[in-house]
Amino acid sequence: MKKVTVLVPCYNEEEALPLFYERICGTISSLDGYEWELLFINDGSRDRTLQIMRNLHARDSRVSYVDLSRNYGKEKAMLAGFDYAAGDCTIIMDADLQDPPELIPQMLGYWEEGYEDVYAKRNSRGRESLSRRFFSLMFYSILQKTTRIEVLQNVGDFRLLDRCCTDAMKNLREAERYTKGMFCWIGFRKKEIVFDRGDRVAGKSSWNFFSLLALAIEGITSFSIAPLRISTVSGAIISLAAFIYMIFVFVKTLILGDPVQGFPTTIIIILFLGGVQLLSIGLLGEYIGRIFIETKHRPVYIAREHNGTLIK
Ligand code: UDP
Ligand code: MG
Repeated sequence: MKKVTVLVPCYNEEEALPLFYERICGTISSLDGYEWELLFINDGSRDRTLQIMRNLHARDSRVSYVDLSRNYGKEKAMLAGFDYAAGDCTIIMDADLQDPPELIPQMLGYWEEGYEDVYAKRNSRGRESLSRRFFSLMFYSILQKTTRIEVLQNVGDFRLLDRCCTDAMKNLREAERYTKGMFCWIGFRKKEIVFDRGDRVAGKSSWNFFSLLALAIEGITSFSIAPLRISTVSGAIISLAAFIYMIFVFVKTLILGDPVQGFPTTIIIILFLGGVQLLSIGLLGEYIGRIFIETKHRPVYIAREHNGTLIK
């Protein structure tokens, strides 16, 4: 019998988790012919999430859990999930039921047809602020224009991955992770299904503007060096313009003499170039920072406990 892992990263989900468990049990009980594993990753929750996982594990042999030593963020929690997932395929879901379990039969259907990565594309984005929608649109268009691989818009982490994809994901052990891009990077046979994303059933989203901005910068800088190229090109353009202007001023002075003028222009140019330089240095810093973090070769996460046994 084929084994299916449902992988759920959880951070402060004490309210949503029991509801999630109910719903998912409803779905999988109607799907015969599969062995199930519900793998919960406790990403350093501060509430009773871990206790709930322990209770579920004691009650239901399909449930297993991994407890991380602190909050590492969803991206790293998902890697922990890939490491511990035992199934022939893995379905990644959020605990807040924004990803409807009712889609699972359809995903499994495509998997049986031979697709290796069945991802769910959001038709609507649920209840979200206008600004979040705007920034997300902007981010995707920048990402699209600066990277060679196609990162799909409105596609989250809700997807079914065949064993070959999970194994591939396990091999990508960079500390700074942009998982959504990695799914595209690993390739394999992909299939899209469309769904309406609902709202959170309980609790609140742990993302805020700054964490999303950080993820966006992460996404762009970890998948392309186009920003560096942009600063090289703009440096070249500005230098060329300055050179042409120099010749112009030189000739003008020769012909018309030199009444000293143009104080505001000078200041503006100095400020502008100062700004461009600082921006470029900051950009370099982003990449150097990334190199710094990766060269330390730390494990991406540290797990404390797996199904009740401490990890040494
Ligand atoms: N999550 C996590 N670690 C974190 C933040 C979130 O494991 O540091 C989990 C969270 O419990 C949920 C999923 O990631 O299952 C999606 O989080 P959330 O609903 O806050 O994100 P949104 O749906 O707003 O994108
Ligand atoms: Mg959510």
